[in-house]
Amino acid sequence: MQDRLLRTTIDLCYRAHPFYRGRMHEAGLTPGDIGGVDDLANFPLTYKREFLNDPEAFRLEPLSELPLEARVLREVMYTTGTTTGQPAPLYTTTFDYYAYAIQAARAARVLGMGDSDVIANVFPLTPFPMGAYLRAQATAAAIGASMILAHPGRPSEALDIHRGLDEVVRLIERQHATVIWGVASFVRRILLRAEDIGADFTAVRMCLVTGESISGAMKDDMRRHLVALGSAHGRIVNRYGSTEGTTLIECEGGAGWHNPSPEQIFMETVDVETGERLEGGAPGLLLITHLMRRGTVLLRYALGDVVELDTGPCPGCRQTVDRVVAQPIRTKDLIKIKGTLVNLEALKAALDGMDGLQEYQIIVTKQQADDPFSPDQLVVRAAGSPPQAELERRIAEVAMNLVQIRPVVEVVRPDDIFNPMTDSKPERLVDRRPALGE
Ligand SMILES: [Zn+2]
Repeated sequence: MQDRLLRTTIDLCYRAHPFYRGRMHEAGLTPGDIGGVDDLANFPLTYKREFLNDPEAFRLEPLSELPLEARVLREVMYTTGTTTGQPAPLYTTTFDYYAYAIQAARAARVLGMGDSDVIANVFPLTPFPMGAYLRAQATAAAIGASMILAHPGRPSEALDIHRGLDEVVRLIERQHATVIWGVASFVRRILLRAEDIGADFTAVRMCLVTGESISGAMKDDMRRHLVALGSAHGRIVNRYGSTEGTTLIECEGGAGWHNPSPEQIFMETVDVETGERLEGGAPGLLLITHLMRRGTVLLRYALGDVVELDTGPCPGCRQTVDRVVAQPIRTKDLIKIKGTLVNLEALKAALDGMDGLQEYQIIVTKQQADDPFSPDQLVVRAAGSPPQAELERRIAEVAMNLVQIRPVVEVVRPDDIFNPMTDSKPERLVDRRPALGE
């Protein structure tokens, strides 16, 4: 089935996908060369930066032979991390939306969610629609569940519609939500705040968290808070997903993240250095190939994570779908902060060129240094000639424009960042967050 669907996708891309049409011509490939997923091993990789630099080239042209639903644009979601700071659009046709509903229903069944659930969608309401926010809605629709849209997030300057943390907590309580679904650090803040103000969360049976890789220790910590709030089950489910690909789900803790729709997404791993396909589950760069999409289509696309894949029966549910069985490791240049993929290279480039700025260092850390589960925080240490307030204002403005995160700016002496007498080179980017898997 994957082979058949891939052949159709390759044929469409050859004729109507600006990026892959060019790439296949360059490589001297024709659709006849790709008979199935085995032959994909000879197809060039697509790196994230290639998509981010020209997302329009990855949108399939609406060939008149395709059914109407495969030509109509239904929604646009955005991924972040472009060199310009401008998020990249992913185009979803009606056909893609229908296909997502099928995989969402399948994933929900594995997680035990259904039409009696009341799901609180606590993903932020952002200027660029997030994939996770839209897909949570599509999931509720697919399974017939109720959904509350809590709409936290950075307030709009012009239109006051975002809800604060306490309002979100009270909404979950009043609506007797059974599932809370959002970015892990924010869901944790909700649980802590609910304890502080004595909210009744006894109806909450599960939290679905995504957007950042969380350790087993953080999961345990969240589970304790949920149980302390009177939740009978106290279940924390960690999802592993990407806007460009799909969401992988665990049937039970530790069983690995299952691909809910192998007919829609083909997964493989390759050697990070050589790009050669790996067999047998060795850790490698995860690639995804869309087998059924008609809007934005990606082939052998490197998400930027190093994972281990297993195609044997799951020890939990016995399914033989492919699973990511070890905590994914992020690659260096694009990193997730507060659940959003951020390209710190762009910020570095802007700071490198800032007038009067002598030294700087970008630090990704936790809001409370002694609390490894507190939200991520971006800190820019800076030294330069402009007055402190001006330096703070300019750096904050640049960071907001490029990575949409307000940093804490610390003004220091140049030698505090880079002392040429003692340091061989300045360290521009420091990730102080606890290592994965701890
Ligand atoms: Zn399983």
